[in-house]
Amino acid sequence: DEIEGPRRIRALHQDVVNKIAAGEIIVAPVHALKELIENAVDAGSTSLEIVVKDGGLKLLQISDNGCGINKDDMSILCERFTTSKLKAFEDLQSIGTYGFRGEALASISHIAHLSITTKTADSSCAWKAHYAAGKLAPAKPGQSADPKACAGRQGTQIQVEDLFYNVPTRRRAFRSASEEYAKIAEQVGKYAVHCQGVAFSCKKHGESGTSIAVPMAAGTKDRIRIVHNSDIANELMEFEVSDKQYGFKTNGFASNANYSGKRTTLLLFINHRSVDSSAIKKAVEQTYSAFLPKGGKPFLYLSLEIEPARVDVNVHPTKREVNFLNEEEIVELICGAIRSKLGKVDTSRTFMTQS
Ligand code: ADP
Ligand code: MG
Repeated sequence: DEIEGPRRIRALHQDVVNKIAAGEIIVAPVHALKELIENAVDAGSTSLEIVVKDGGLKLLQISDNGCGINKDDMSILCERFTTSKLKAFEDLQSIGTYGFRGEALASISHIAHLSITTKTADSSCAWKAHYAAGKLAPAKPGQSADPKACAGRQGTQIQVEDLFYNVPTRRRAFRSASEEYAKIAEQVGKYAVHCQGVAFSCKKHGESGTSIAVPMAAGTKDRIRIVHNSDIANELMEFEVSDKQYGFKTNGFASNANYSGKRTTLLLFINHRSVDSSAIKKAVEQTYSAFLPKGGKPFLYLSLEIEPARVDVNVHPTKREVNFLNEEEIVELICGAIRSKLGKVDTSRTFMTQS
């Protein structure tokens, strides 16, 4: 019974490191799509068209009409930590764009077949390139890996095919394409409500109908009507709260006491990034519990802008959650504003029924 000595420690091969990192950033198709939507919005697009096949596992395609990518940048585009957005670590304190780490495209290229077609305003043609493991790759074995000239409109089209094809355990974990599509449609719907001045469409590959189609000019209430329904859109209260001391301002639409849903719908944006927050959800549900019938749940679209220096966006690999200072105080101010609006609607209803 001899005790074995410690095993030798060795550095992992770079490709293994990249694949592990990619799997942390892109856990499901919806995470890849979220990154691609944010890139398209960062690029100044006013139109995003999304096509999805097999819940995004076979194909995720997103076409935008943004600024495009310079042909000369296409060779390093998918390397890890290449970005046009962040230069110094300190910039994280003032970051105004969605992306900042230059990891999304790199990650996707390690766990899917990625191809990109792009055209800038001053290029006479579009360029198409394929990527594998961070680098330009030939479309077919034996061909050149260089970007190829082709016809195309200004903007960028990204195609992600066979996601997780080389991560079989992850691939097998997805049981239902329709479940993954539902998550995708929910995420697209959130950005479609939030991004004023941007048209969105989202559909399943091969189907003529779209599941989401929001025109560019639609206002927030109409966006909610299109993405959700009129039952919600007809019962909304607009609100605004801000506070200098806590460095935030917020605006949004909250359902009034006439609306009572089966589950809470919370569209939460912090500095224009769609995020989750169980703390905010809980506080909001508590606020409404005094106004809704037992078990009734609200709808809330909340866009919270906090001074970038008070926010830490870098706490979660998928950027799903963010930390910010004075969270409790800020949430209480927001819930207070909603509570007083709910109170007012209630009295006006009583008044109307009495007169
Ligand atoms: P990040 O968004 O953090 O910079 P990404 O890997 O998502 O990193 O993208 C890398 C770079 O590729 C971006 O900084 C941007 O310059 C360019 N890019 C990505 N998607 C688009 C797009 N749809 N339109 C224009 N440029 C894009
Ligand atoms: Mg990005």
